[in-house]
Amino acid sequence: MEYTLATAPLTPRFALLPGRYYSIVTPSPLPDPQLLAWNAALAGQLGLAADPAAHPRLAELLAGNLLRYERPLASVYSGHQFGQWAGQLGDGRAILVLELSDIDGRIQEIQLKGAGLTPYSRMGDGRAVLRSSIREYLCSEAMAGLGIPTTRALSLVGSNEPVWRETRETAAVVARVAPSFLRFGHFEHFYHRGEPDAVRELADWTIAHFYPDCAAAASPYLALFEAVRDRTAAMIADWMAVGFCHGVMNSDNMSMLGLTLDYGPFGFLDGFDAGHICNHSDHHGRYAFNQQPQIGLWNLACLAQTLVNLVDVEPLRAALDGYQTVFEAAYAERLRRKFGLTEWREADWPLFTRLLELMQAAGTDWTIFWRDLSRPAGQARLRDQFVDRDAFDIWLADYQARLAFDPRAPAEREAAMLAANPRLVLRNHLAETAIRKATDGDASEIDRLQRALARPFDDDAEFDDLAGPAPDWAASLSVSCSS
Ligand code: AMP
Ligand code: MG
Repeated sequence: MEYTLATAPLTPRFALLPGRYYSIVTPSPLPDPQLLAWNAALAGQLGLAADPAAHPRLAELLAGNLLRYERPLASVYSGHQFGQWAGQLGDGRAILVLELSDIDGRIQEIQLKGAGLTPYSRMGDGRAVLRSSIREYLCSEAMAGLGIPTTRALSLVGSNEPVWRETRETAAVVARVAPSFLRFGHFEHFYHRGEPDAVRELADWTIAHFYPDCAAAASPYLALFEAVRDRTAAMIADWMAVGFCHGVMNSDNMSMLGLTLDYGPFGFLDGFDAGHICNHSDHHGRYAFNQQPQIGLWNLACLAQTLVNLVDVEPLRAALDGYQTVFEAAYAERLRRKFGLTEWREADWPLFTRLLELMQAAGTDWTIFWRDLSRPAGQARLRDQFVDRDAFDIWLADYQARLAFDPRAPAEREAAMLAANPRLVLRNHLAETAIRKATDGDASEIDRLQRALARPFDDDAEFDDLAGPAPDWAASLSVSCSS
C-alpha cells in the first residue's frame, strides 16, 4: 500500500450487517483531484498525520480514486420529504469507505460525499458541486466549534469535472466523519416495506453500538426511542440558540445519533426573523427557523411509527408526548446560559419573548446582539439596534433587575456569557466569499474560515473582519436544495 495511515482502517461495522441494508459500490474516480482543504485537527483526532504531505496521493485517496477500500457501501433508506412519504431514497452520492478508531478509541465512519453513482442515485449524477461542498465542509466545522453535535468534515477535494445544476459547476468530494450516519429514514425504509424483523435487527444494532445503556432498560426499544428523542430535542435547542436554520429537515436527514446531518440550504440568522426561510425551495416555510422544534416532533413521530411492532403503543405515545417538555427544558438551559443566569425561572420566558418581539420589529442581528449583551461596553451599543429604543431601554432595565437576583458576580457572568454567545457563525456571505475565491482558484479563504470557526467564542483580532453584520449584498444570496 502506498499511503500511510497511522492506524489500520477497519471494515465498517455497517458492512457486517446483512446485505439488505446496503449495496457494495465502488467510488467513481474523479479526474485530477485537488486537495482544497484538509482538517488537520480532525485528522489528528482520527490518528492520521496532521500534515497532508505525510500521506502520498492523498487527494486521490479522498476523492475515492484509489481502490483500497474493503467493503465500500451505500446504504438504503427512505423518508418523508416536505411532509410527504417519498419512498426509497438512500445514499445516492455518499459512499461509506472505511472506519477508524480515533485516538480516544471511538470508532468513526468515513463517507465520501459526491463520490459518484450508487444504486440509490435515482435521477441524480452521484456528484456534489464545489459550492455546496465548501458549505458542508465549513458548516460541519463551524457547528463543531460551537459545541453542537454534528457530522464532521475531514477534507475537501475539488476538480475540473463539469457538473450541471442550474449552470455548469465543478465536482467536489467531502470526506465526512461520524460514528454513524444512521437516519430515521433507515428505520422508515424497512417498516414501510413491511419488514419488522429488519427494523428489529437495525434497532438491536443501533443499541449495541450507540446506545448500550438502553439494553438494560425494561423496554430497550422504548429506551432507544426516548434517547433519540432527547438528543434530537437537545440538538434543535442548540440550533435555536445560535440562530441555525437547517433548511431541509426531512426525516431522511435526521440522525439517529442526534447529529446535525446533511448540510444543504442551511443558514444562520443575520437579522432576527422568527419565520426566516433559508431554503429557497421551501415555498411554504415548512422548515422556517421557528418551525424547527415542532418539525423535530413530527419527524420523531415518523420514527415512533416504525417501532410499533417492537414497543407497546401507549408508552411510545407517551414518550412522543414528552418531547415538548424535553425540548423546553433543553431550550431553557441554553437561554439560561445566553442570559448569563445561574437558574432559569418560569418568569424568564416573558422576558425572552418580549426581547424577541423587539428584535423581530427591528431585525436586530442575532449573533451580535447576544455578544454585545455579554459585556458592559456592548450593552451600551445595543439600543441603536432597535427601532423602538425606549421599549428596549425598559427591557434592558428589566433584564438588569433580573440579574440583581442572580448570585453570580459580574466578571464571572461576563466570562460565562462570552463562552455561551459566539462572536462568529458561518454567515451566508462568509461562505459565499470563500466559494467565490475558490471558484477563481484560491482556496485559502476556506482554510482561514475554518480556523476562525473552530474558535468562535474567541476575540481574535485576526478574524475581526468576520464578526460584523452581513453586508447589503448578502440579501440577494439564495440557496436551494440543488447541490
Ligand atoms: P438531500 O436533499 O441532499 O438530503 O438528498 C435527498 C436524496 O437525494 C438522498 O437520497 C440523496 O442521496 C439524493 N441525492 C441528492 N443529490 C444527489 C445527486 N446529485 N446524485 C444522486 N443522488 C442525490
Ligand atoms: Mg439527505
